[in-house]
Amino acid sequence: MYLDELIEFNQEFSKEKKYIQYQTDKFPDKRIVIFSCMDTRLVELLPNALNIKNGDAKIVKNAGAIIKNPFGSIMRSLLVAVYALKADEILVIGHHDCGMKGFSGKQLIEKAMQRGVQKETINTLEYAGIDVEQWLEGFESVEDSVEHSVGVIRNHPLLPKDTPVHGLVIDPNTGKLDIVTKGYEKIN
Ligand SMILES: [Zn+2]
Repeated sequence: MYLDELIEFNQEFSKEKKYIQYQTDKFPDKRIVIFSCMDTRLVELLPNALNIKNGDAKIVKNAGAIIKNPFGSIMRSLLVAVYALKADEILVIGHHDCGMKGFSGKQLIEKAMQRGVQKETINTLEYAGIDVEQWLEGFESVEDSVEHSVGVIRNHPLLPKDTPVHGLVIDPNTGKLDIVTKGYEKIN
């Protein structure tokens, strides 16, 4: 249980005014929005490897930097970043050794059932047209997955056509970035 420990630290943080070094406003100074994976190794490495400080960029994350639904919360966040928060470019950053590579939706369902979720519940969702297994499924190739996420964003009917959307893969050990696809050539 971590809550008490976190709150205790937080009270000290606040009392000693350690927040002052982080103060900024809500608009990104670098005018970019990054969509990446929630991997713990990227928490500090990703911004530091890109020289991104507090206030520089919007960062949206989920498991694997995967967009399953063009009208889900990830795409909504990206659109809000572009239209309301002055982000001009979008970077999708997957990473090597991602937990979602080869991740099995079927195995997750099995684990959920071991933890008390009933088979009937899964069946009910399936009957309602929700492909639970596919919804939970990861990817086979991080580059392909990044390309797919980039494709969903670039082709989104609500994204301004002049918004460059880039795809990259980061090494979670060294922070080295490789470009999968550059957005500048694709805009019109
Ligand atoms: Zn990951």
